[in-house]
Amino acid sequence: METFRYTRADDASQAIRAAAQSPTAQQGAQIRFVAGGTTLLDLMKLNVERPVQVIDINRLPYDKVEKLPDGGLKIGALVRNADLAHDPVVQSDYAVLSQALLSGASAQLRNMATTGGNLLQRTRCAYFRNTAMACNKREPGSGCSAIEGENRTLAILGTSQHCIATNPSDMNVALTALEATIHIQGAKGERDVAIHDFFLLPGSTPQRENVLDPGDLITFVTLPAPPPGTKSVYLKLRDRASYEFALSSAAVVAEVSDGRFKRVRIAMGGVGTKPWRSFEAEKALESKKVEPAVFREAANAALREARPQSENGFKVELAKRCLTHALTMATQSA
Ligand code: SF4
Repeated sequence: METFRYTRADDASQAIRAAAQSPTAQQGAQIRFVAGGTTLLDLMKLNVERPVQVIDINRLPYDKVEKLPDGGLKIGALVRNADLAHDPVVQSDYAVLSQALLSGASAQLRNMATTGGNLLQRTRCAYFRNTAMACNKREPGSGCSAIEGENRTLAILGTSQHCIATNPSDMNVALTALEATIHIQGAKGERDVAIHDFFLLPGSTPQRENVLDPGDLITFVTLPAPPPGTKSVYLKLRDRASYEFALSSAAVVAEVSDGRFKRVRIAMGGVGTKPWRSFEAEKALESKKVEPAVFREAANAALREARPQSENGFKVELAKRCLTHALTMATQSA
């Protein structure tokens, strides 16, 4: 690990100012905010992340989950994953989020990891974490070792010739199906971004994973009020039962009326280069009868654009079965 400057911020403006005033602000990649540190410190030890300045934001007042007057939910960026998963409102109204959080990492990591940090979780592509290997995400222009290498766990949707890495987060998949909004404070003021627009496809710039500018701070996340009668489910398939990343996962948020889908939101994990909202599956389900043949049609639509690599062709059928089963679970008692 390389040496770095460590400071603590007492409020958001101070944190943003500290980042903006850093001599290296123009190359913002070298300044990092730290909260739980469960991704950042790992990557610093591997020399994948080499910040010259780390700003501790744990004292900022973003550690609460609050009901909004319109029935929605406001989640502070510093709310720990374990606290969010066990929040009574999240468990009752946003079950998909609680289930996704509890399926990720270990109890110890969930006690440390925060909502804001989870949004910024980096890929688990082994080549990204190994500085001896070429990786366009870590070192733009160096090449992608995974395309001709070990790619069993990597993405089949949203890939490019420059990067095929998956977004590893479970929480992000649930937040995508819940149509979360990310609230950001930066040197130019505050702005809100829909989660679908927050994450970027790799294209020719895989090093840029989201719309944050250098020095931008995520302050909180909001969720819309769930329409009455909405059911939600997160299903995760992986190589072992715990402490493992998804090979495929599905988040379903569904409102069913008279045996038909009234409103449904679908997101998938473990298969996309970003948390994968499947508008195709949603369209295939809209107003349709709740029945297995319709589920399968939706799953086929969701994976139609899949582009598997040499070792991960199995993910196409796995993801279809995952989504079909999640739809069955979400509508069982509807
Ligand atoms: Fe790097 Fe992406 Fe290729 Fe993995 S898939 S080696 S993260 S460029």
